[in-house]
Amino acid sequence: MATINDNYLKLKAGYLFPEIARRVNAFAQANPDASIIKLGIGDVTEPLPEACRTAMIKAVEDMGDRATFKGYGPEQGYSWLREKIASHDFQSRGCEIEPEEIFISDGSKCDNGNILDIFGDNNTIAVTDPVYPVYVDTNVMAGNTGAANDAGEFEGLVYLPVTAENDFTAEIPSQKVDLIYLCFPNNPTGATASKDYLKAWVDYANSHGSIILFDAAYEAFITDPSVPHSIYEIEGARNCAIEFRSFSKNAGFTGTRCALSVVPKTLTGKAADGSDVELWKLWNRRQSTKFNGVSYIVQRGAEAVYSEAGQAQIKGLVSFYLENAKIIREQLTAAGLTVYGGVNAPYIWLKTPNELSSWDFFDKLLQMTNIVGTPGSGFGAAGEGYFRISAFNSRENVNEAMKRIMEKLKV
Ligand SMILES: *Cc1c(COP(=O)(O)O)cnc(C)c1O
Repeated sequence: MATINDNYLKLKAGYLFPEIARRVNAFAQANPDASIIKLGIGDVTEPLPEACRTAMIKAVEDMGDRATFKGYGPEQGYSWLREKIASHDFQSRGCEIEPEEIFISDGSKCDNGNILDIFGDNNTIAVTDPVYPVYVDTNVMAGNTGAANDAGEFEGLVYLPVTAENDFTAEIPSQKVDLIYLCFPNNPTGATASKDYLKAWVDYANSHGSIILFDAAYEAFITDPSVPHSIYEIEGARNCAIEFRSFSKNAGFTGTRCALSVVPKTLTGKAADGSDVELWKLWNRRQSTKFNGVSYIVQRGAEAVYSEAGQAQIKGLVSFYLENAKIIREQLTAAGLTVYGGVNAPYIWLKTPNELSSWDFFDKLLQMTNIVGTPGSGFGAAGEGYFRISAFNSRENVNEAMKRIMEKLKV
């Protein structure tokens, strides 16, 4: 009999979004006339930029002509795309990142999970709490944790709480951790990291030989000029950080699929024999063996993001969502709620009123206003008492949702 990877049995049964769906369906059945507005999901709503569509249509035509047809591309991505990313997203900000250090992929979710392939199984791993669940679950699957306790915390992980008390930035641990997941601008809290804060992490990592896994999926939403867009803006980061980026949220590629990871050639990890091994070589080997590249058509679409028209169009998309976020922030504040985030991120993180639990507030919001959000406790134990509202929606839905909150929920 074939055996299974028992680590999968430790996972909490995909609790958050199925439970939201269950409660929403039950409510919709009991209230068939209610017009439900979903402000819970972290998916974009606006169409793909015109520049990207035009480039992809042209790429489809390329595929239809023997002279320009493309078969397998480089597993790491086409050099014309890697060069544009290196110069536009990194070198223009003073980050010394070379095109060969950029690996194109079909998603940051995959990269965030796959990266564990190149690390040992005896690392101490730190995550923030609340957190993007992918970091935790992929470590559970890889066997890097023990079982979960009642609060949903896995034995063996180091949880760094982020709450209003610490401005949603985790305190740097006193103990040594080997791998640290950081996400800025943050999902779910919408918090950002200052240069000084990231410098403290980089110094910590370099002094302990740790690696920071830096998720910059929401980099395009940064409006404050003092906030760094890349971890490589911090001196020393080339020796301790891998960065993940995605075209999902800036260019609406959630259904098109294109992302990248940056693995500097200066990063090393320890082998069992005590020698230092270049992580770039391992990731390159991993991608060459287990991945066959992103489609030519999609990479041409991603390349168009860097054209003049593409840049203007993604700016338009991001400002549209940020205007939604501003409306949500202002209206929730006017309704008497305490809100965080939503300035450099498409997420608003609110403190539930009257000490309600995250799920009690979920139910109250659904009952009174027919609006669906995401309970903070679903992102981790320290998210209890918080609630996430997403700005990824039409302006019409945002305005209608805020009108209902002002009318029915004002405290
Ligand atoms: C949306 C998101 C991503 C992007 O994932 P893709 O697989 O590239 O679509 C990565 N990290 C976080 C925290 C996200 O919210």
